[in-house]
Amino acid sequence: MTPTRDEIEERALELWRLSNPSILITPEPEELKESGYWDRARRDLMTSDASKDREVLRRVAQSLLEELHRIQDHLGEGLLSESESKAVIAGLIKRVEELSARVAVATDIVCPRCGHSWPRTSSSLYATCSKCNRHFRVV
Ligand SMILES: [Zn+2]
Repeated sequence: MTPTRDEIEERALELWRLSNPSILITPEPEELKESGYWDRARRDLMTSDASKDREVLRRVAQSLLEELHRIQDHLGEGLLSESESKAVIAGLIKRVEELSARVAVATDIVCPRCGHSWPRTSSSLYATCSKCNRHFRVV
């Protein structure tokens, strides 16, 4: 499959953030291309599979958490003004929301009764097992 430009940009940004966790700005596509993240992202997407996606998501979640802690430190030390911190935190919340939507889709659903598992295809909170017919709330 050939990744779209948006997919490449999104993945390049993830890779960039993992390598540059302390920089709070978002680089432009040109900068991502010049620094090699664009090509890495394209290669990454061409060879992607579900488990790798989950691993990337896990690492992005970890880096977001670290970034949040760093912002808390900055705020505590008075290094960020109130308006700066509001903008940074709004951006962070948006990324966490995007991430949780993707994690929800990337995670398999496991039936608590029989252990049957299948890929999640919607963000619905409830699922019904096709093997034992158990209806349950998805964690
Ligand atoms: Zn079941």
